[in-house]
Amino acid sequence: NNQVILKDYVVDFPKESDMDLVEGTIAQKLPEGSNEVLLKNLYLSCDPYMRMLMSKTEGPEGFQTYSTGSPLTGYGVAKVLESGHPDYKKGDLVWGFTRWEEYSLVPASMILFKIEHTDVPLSYYTGILGMPGMTAYAGFFEVGLPKEGDKVFVSAASGAVGQLVGQFAKLSGCYVVGSAGSKDKVDLLKNKFGFDDAFNYKEEPDLNAALKRYFPEGIDIYFENVGGKTLDAVLLNMRVHGRIVVCGMVSQYNLAQPEGVTNLQHLIIKRIRMQGFNVTDYYHQYPKFLEYIVPKIKEGKIVYVEDIVEGLEKAAQALVGLFSGRNVGKQVIVLAHE
Ligand code: NDP
Repeated sequence: NNQVILKDYVVDFPKESDMDLVEGTIAQKLPEGSNEVLLKNLYLSCDPYMRMLMSKTEGPEGFQTYSTGSPLTGYGVAKVLESGHPDYKKGDLVWGFTRWEEYSLVPASMILFKIEHTDVPLSYYTGILGMPGMTAYAGFFEVGLPKEGDKVFVSAASGAVGQLVGQFAKLSGCYVVGSAGSKDKVDLLKNKFGFDDAFNYKEEPDLNAALKRYFPEGIDIYFENVGGKTLDAVLLNMRVHGRIVVCGMVSQYNLAQPEGVTNLQHLIIKRIRMQGFNVTDYYHQYPKFLEYIVPKIKEGKIVYVEDIVEGLEKAAQALVGLFSGRNVGKQVIVLAHE
């Protein structure tokens, strides 16, 4: 049972060498009376929040940081090999919380959803049909409250969450511009995901000027994935009654001292609502989300780009790559195809 463990707590940017691939053990049978499930992990998801759990200091509220010497935990897609819980049976496919190893014994009380639609790629349950999909859906619709004609800006726009937010915005009759960190990503935004426009933030010396160019009348909804300088420039360009959906701040997760944001007073003058959210508060909407999105995938009205690497030996590198923008689309690790 190969595992990826945390070797050392991470101080700034995570490195491959902060993790190690080791051989661990796994219970061959469920202990008598156990209500756990024994999983064969098929796909593992690389998510930016995992970095916060790699620090020695406490993670965000409700999160337990990783322990050195133990496998990382995270979202994944798995097959049930044995189940002591009545809701799951041998052979079921599930997505939810698992560990970075080939086989995992997990309590069924963890986040675990049974997969009902299998006529789509199973890896989608780490992305568009899993946690990032729910994040884009809840963040954009429930927190952003879009109206037709709204002007929407999305940062980290080609990533797991961002590419969906842009497509949801287009389907809702909004004008949407995305920022991303390479020419290839900008091309994807414009030519694959249907953003009205897109730019490479690394090539914009003045983000305020760039936003003024793309949003001469200002921004109604900013879907915040990165924080820092981008947020500061956005604050100067928001419209009256605009909404800032604070999904994440990936540019800050590796900094010992987060960057200061200086333009917050614009919230007052422009009556802006800036609201953070946590996707786990919206999982009760998962069935409604599937009803919305599955037909759109099948009809080709929503597309999804994944960046899939093979094998646990590539896992650490894939996770670290999120923080240099190496991933193009949703970063997935495939362990087995079933
Ligand atoms: P992505 O697939 O977008 O991967 C991360 C991307 O972030 C990279 O590809 C890179 O893209 C960009 N990035 C990395 N470092 C920086 C930096 N210093 N400045 C600007 N951009 C950077 O990740 P996800 O779509 O999975 O996550 C997007 C955001 O959503 C994250 O902030 C994450 O924490 C958050 N999130 C929040 C949830 C919630 O419940 N609130 C749930 C899930 C995710 P590029 O090349 O374009 O720079």
